[in-house]
Amino acid sequence: LAVHGGAWAIPEEMVEPCRAGVARALDSGWQVLARGGSALDACQAAITALEDDPVFDAGIGSHLNRDGRVQLDAILMDGRTLKSGAVVAVERIRNPIHLARLVLDRSEYMLLAGSGAEQFAEEMRLEFCNPADLVVPREQELWAKNRQSASQGLGAGTVGAVALDAQGNLAAGTSTGGPPGKYPGRVGDSPLIGCGCYADNRTGAVSTTGYGEAMMKVVMAKTTNDLLAAGPRRGRGRFEPQAAAEKALALLRERTGGTGGVIIVDPRSRVGAAFTTPRMAYAFRTSDYLEPIVRV
Ligand code: ASP
Repeated sequence: LAVHGGAWAIPEEMVEPCRAGVARALDSGWQVLARGGSALDACQAAITALEDDPVFDAGIGSHLNRDGRVQLDAILMDGRTLKSGAVVAVERIRNPIHLARLVLDRSEYMLLAGSGAEQFAEEMRLEFCNPADLVVPREQELWAKNRQSASQGLGAGTVGAVALDAQGNLAAGTSTGGPPGKYPGRVGDSPLIGCGCYADNRTGAVSTTGYGEAMMKVVMAKTTNDLLAAGPRRGRGRFEPQAAAEKALALLRERTGGTGGVIIVDPRSRVGAAFTTPRMAYAFRTSDYLEPIVRV
């Protein structure tokens, strides 16, 4: 199991809270795997913990858009069936990853947007929150400051998880509030299959973070998985997950000038975590390691 809390220039004062947050999320997901739960359940549990932590740009504490509202995107993907469930631009859902799970399990669709996603939430009897419940003072202040300069910042604190379970199934998920001051209705890479997240039992499970408009150009998550499968030379060996993640980030930089971060796990339980931003908050654990690895 690996989790991340975003790749960006994490300031010194946020390092500890980020470290504690990813460690807690890893623990939530690990508990699911340890009792024989599925990779999907483990990713959902880890991402729920990250959405509930106001330090990260997902769920409560997310960045506000240009209009001063929180609009959330999330995706969960099943590596066994290749089905994903995603929601974008939802405003009244405290844990969009739960709604993404319902889209995955209980609908024939892969992605529901805005009012339609919330209508589906209502049909699924998911509890609604007040949009104001998702707003924290830190973000309100940032919004007020940015409004004067009419600027849009970079995303900071998108979250994600990738997991392999005892049945050999892979899953991945990603959740975000997007960059501060984003245009209303703007959807980035995070909730898009192949961009912010991809899982295929045959290759690997990937969750990404970074400048969405660049990540989409190279279809980042699927590209990382494809590199993992292809290996250094066609038909000759495979890349290690770590090498695939680094190679995908190099390609992102080469083709778009963009930076970001990737976490990945393969069917042999090998984990990779790489980033080209100043920092990334991440944590991982496998059954070979006695202790979880937590880094910011
Ligand atoms: N990829 C996210 C987005 O563009 C931001 C991030 O990962 O930091 O919405």
